[in-house]
Amino acid sequence: MDFKQELSSYFKENCLLNEPMGRHTTYLTGGPAEAYVYPATSEEWSFVLKLARTENVPLRIIGFGSNILVGGKGVGGIVCSTKHMNHVAVKSNRVTAQAGVALDKVCELASRAGLAGMEKLSGIPGSVGGAVYMNAGAFGQETFDCLEYVEVIDYDGRPATLLKEDLPHSYRHVEGIENYIVLGAGFSLEKKDFASLVETRNAVLHKRIEKQPLDFPSAGSVFKRPVGDYASRLIDEAGLRGLSIGGAKVSEKHAGFIINFNHATPEDIKNLMDEVKRQVKEKSGVELELEQILWGEFGR
Ligand code: FAD
Repeated sequence: MDFKQELSSYFKENCLLNEPMGRHTTYLTGGPAEAYVYPATSEEWSFVLKLARTENVPLRIIGFGSNILVGGKGVGGIVCSTKHMNHVAVKSNRVTAQAGVALDKVCELASRAGLAGMEKLSGIPGSVGGAVYMNAGAFGQETFDCLEYVEVIDYDGRPATLLKEDLPHSYRHVEGIENYIVLGAGFSLEKKDFASLVETRNAVLHKRIEKQPLDFPSAGSVFKRPVGDYASRLIDEAGLRGLSIGGAKVSEKHAGFIINFNHATPEDIKNLMDEVKRQVKEKSGVELELEQILWGEFGR
């Protein structure tokens, strides 16, 4: 049996072969994954990790696919989705959540329970695992601000609990996190008046609708914020708002976003990213750094 047959017979309907990644990423475009599975229990994780090791095939983790662009030629090996890991609990001033819980769900539960520290992360369309991996943030708040610990497993199948102090982190970066699979996280929050938290949450959600092109598929901000500036300001200044390649366009509403406005291929999006980077460098001298993550091979 090859690795795909083994996965199929173990995961049954929770294993999809040759699965188009446009179905699992917010850009709604992307080539196929050789095998796409939904491990949830520690036995299932052990099985898939051991198989990837013994068969020597690459293994990737996906949360909600809201920060990933997959090339048209797709990705070899195994993609593991955390979507079936969705337990979340609030107890006293702590929220614990498995990796596949929506970050926004955690923000909502915390705010309603009168727990402060995550309300400004409301509306980020990722999972808890993806938010920890990226140190996602917004409006001056970051995932790591209230993070207490992360439950992980390494690629050799060894589980561990890492404290926030074990993971040096900065803006959209967590050192060493690529060595682990995030299974869950615990957030320690501060008690506050729930009405003001819900008000802040609603204001943040409203600002997102107002400022972001949420009516088109995208993966949020394409580039990281350069020190002391904004990528969107530099892109705008370079006259690139509305620039398009194929079905991909620099959003007219928010120049930091690339939107899939008309059946874009991953290559349209990637070519537009490269073009924006090139022109911003030429016009302002600033080298933009990609925030979004590219998977697999691009090209037809
Ligand atoms: P994915 O896109 O699935 O994965 C991202 C990376 O994390 C990949 O490398 C993946 O391998 C890794 N990963 C995911 N889960 C795990 C896990 N359990 N264990 C180990 N590795 C894992 N981001 C912000 O920071 N702030 C914003 O305000 C913001 N606004 C956005 C608005 C829109 C409309 C969109 C579409 C995106 C926005 N984003 C924003 C980007 C994105 O939502 C975040 O980066 C989010 O944290 C990604 O989570 P995810 O679950 O979708 O991760």
